[in-house]
Amino acid sequence: ESLGIALVGLGSYSTYQLAPALQDTKFCHLAGIVTGTKAKERIWAERYGIPAGNIYNYQNFDTIADNDDIDVVYVVLPNSMHAEFSIRAAQAGKHVICEKPMAVTVAECDAIIEACRKAGVKLGIGYRLHSEPYTQEVKRFVREKTFGKTAYVNAEAAYRSAGNPDQWRLNKALSGGGALMNMGVYSIQSTIYATGENPVKVTAQEFSTRPDYFKDTDETVTAQFQFPGGATGTVFTSHNANANSLYASCTGGWFSLKPANNYGPLAGESSNGPIQFKHESQQKLQMDDFASHILYGSVNRAPGEMGKRDMIIIEAIYRSISEGNRSVPLELGNMGLV
Ligand code: NAD
Repeated sequence: ESLGIALVGLGSYSTYQLAPALQDTKFCHLAGIVTGTKAKERIWAERYGIPAGNIYNYQNFDTIADNDDIDVVYVVLPNSMHAEFSIRAAQAGKHVICEKPMAVTVAECDAIIEACRKAGVKLGIGYRLHSEPYTQEVKRFVREKTFGKTAYVNAEAAYRSAGNPDQWRLNKALSGGGALMNMGVYSIQSTIYATGENPVKVTAQEFSTRPDYFKDTDETVTAQFQFPGGATGTVFTSHNANANSLYASCTGGWFSLKPANNYGPLAGESSNGPIQFKHESQQKLQMDDFASHILYGSVNRAPGEMGKRDMIIIEAIYRSISEGNRSVPLELGNMGLV
């Protein structure tokens, strides 16, 4: 059995990662597209053999409700459009995958979760790393206390942005924020799965060195977390420097991934030796995991609550920055821990 997926938004992630990955998936396949660009309709129809009846635009999108070829709608639009299209997909009775960051506010995350609950459809966030073996190995180390208890974790997720200063990622109305919204979720998540806990306290700082280029969004953010089990964590995220790693120091050893959050192959080391897995498309693994969650009830590795939790942390980081780098408490309990 294979579920039909419709991609909404045919930008670079859909074009170069998701659609190619959907040629190799076992439990789902590319069945339809939703695009605002007329010219892409014929290109995609020819490349992937998509029938005319499975091609939608943003206006007629809601009629996807009547299309039995489509089981899942995957929202791959600029961040500020995630909530609208995820909610419309749920209301059309389709399961939803929503790209990261889940939305641009916690209130929007709540609205998506509620729409999916009401419609009785499943919701997954595009957190591909949770389906990927290096990340799963880190989660196993923590669960089985392979190196004891994590005492300190450092996580970096950053790249140097250049080129078009008018791109949507640098436009707050479309992105909701800069580096923190875009890459910050990876470093925040690293600290969480390397401790197995949600943070209880955060302080944060913002740095701006290229204000002419980053007119509207944060360029570089650092943050420090305290975890309930006693671990501390530091996070670096930026649109101004390349950095991609995870390092955890534990009571009985250490482990690290570098790179930790790109499309792979990832690489890892530990005080017990190298960490090594065969490389496979992370997007393929992620979409098959979500399809098998729907079809066979396997675990949802990246549920809506995880996306919402990360947005709560992002809002707390922005609050710390805007309120003089003060310490902001977090009351997350086990929200989104999978
Ligand atoms: P992109 O700029 O390449 O594509 C965006 C698409 O949205 C384009 O097809 C564009 O035509 C369409 N669009 C519709 N309305 C728009 C508007 N008002 N302004 C700009 N574009 C508009 O972006 P992308 O890299 O494909 O990112 C899309 C989403 O996927 C983002 O939420 C991003 O965070 C996420 N993403 C996730 C990963 C991951 O590893 N999980 C990787 C890349 C992107």
